[in-house]
Amino acid sequence: MRTPIIAGNWKMNNTQKQTAALIAELRPLVEGAESEVVVCVPYTSLAAARKAVRGSNIKLGAQNVHWAESGAFTGEVSASMLKELKVEYVIIGHSERRQYFGETDATVNARIKAALAAKLKVIACVGETLDERMTGRTEQVLEEQIIRGFQGFKTREFDKIVIAYEPVWAIGTGKTATAEEANATIAFIRKTVAKKFSPLIAGRLRIQYGGSMNAKNAKELMAMPEIDGGLIGGASLKAEDFSKVVNYNNN
Ligand code: PEP
Repeated sequence: MRTPIIAGNWKMNNTQKQTAALIAELRPLVEGAESEVVVCVPYTSLAAARKAVRGSNIKLGAQNVHWAESGAFTGEVSASMLKELKVEYVIIGHSERRQYFGETDATVNARIKAALAAKLKVIACVGETLDERMTGRTEQVLEEQIIRGFQGFKTREFDKIVIAYEPVWAIGTGKTATAEEANATIAFIRKTVAKKFSPLIAGRLRIQYGGSMNAKNAKELMAMPEIDGGLIGGASLKAEDFSKVVNYNNN
């Protein structure tokens, strides 16, 4: 049985004040949710978010982490720095990082390694671009991202990893993969993990869908047998919208 996990990716949104207000509004709306609930906030809002989630079922996440423990990496943040702020999850390899900040499967692998070593849990993003899908390369791209991104991890380490399948063409565009498309691609990801790593890992691995998931489509997506949760961008910025995704069964 895989516990569903709904995570909000706030991206570069919300000051400390806005963070405290949004979480205060969210807390009662997601109380008692069946799924795990995570908010991944900007670094500057982590301390405020930590205070705001205390005593609730909302878990704290960051949006990136560097692979080195410390040193000359201007602008970066290490896993132990996140750990000190009681961060539990960290998003790694989001397509915006890959697209705008030169993230590669190799850097994704190094960041995951550092996160796991610090006992952080990871939400690792994979997904194809529109061009890759249109030219029939979705499976090849995903296979490469999985093999290169996850190489070298032990079976028990995979228990700390959640994969977010996010077709790049569906992120922030209002275009969602149909529930059937998302389910089929996530089934392919699980099959690939089974083949390249082990069936045991694949069976336990939680795989989220991400890409314009919202209050309206969450129930249908979450009803799919392969989909174990969602990574939510835009719809995580309003408490009511995000809570409706979290409570997808009640919609
Ligand atoms: C995301 O940023 O991970 C995402 C899925 O964004 P959106 O929900 O806005 O498409």
